[in-house]
Amino acid sequence: MTWDDTTENPCNQKLGSIYEYLDGALSCEDLKELNEHLASCDHCAREYDLEKVIRGLMKRCCCETAPQDLKAKIRQRIDEIKNAEHPAAS
Ligand SMILES: [Zn+2]
Repeated sequence: MTWDDTTENPCNQKLGSIYEYLDGALSCEDLKELNEHLASCDHCAREYDLEKVIRGLMKRCCCETAPQDLKAKIRQRIDEIKNAEHPAAS
């Protein structure tokens, strides 16, 4: 199993939304929705630790924008996730 089929994979769509947030296209409210997905999705939260990342962003949102190095780190993490093959497939 690969993660190529984004239309079949709601998690990948959520990951795409994180990109949009980093680009300034999503609001703080959208980020909260994302966080709710991560909180209820074992796959995203447990395997990738993204819940923690989003929580870190939420603390900053509405008061300040995320620093560039944090954004870069998050993008890198998402790229790793999207490029990784799912370990449970075997
Ligand atoms: Zn998910």
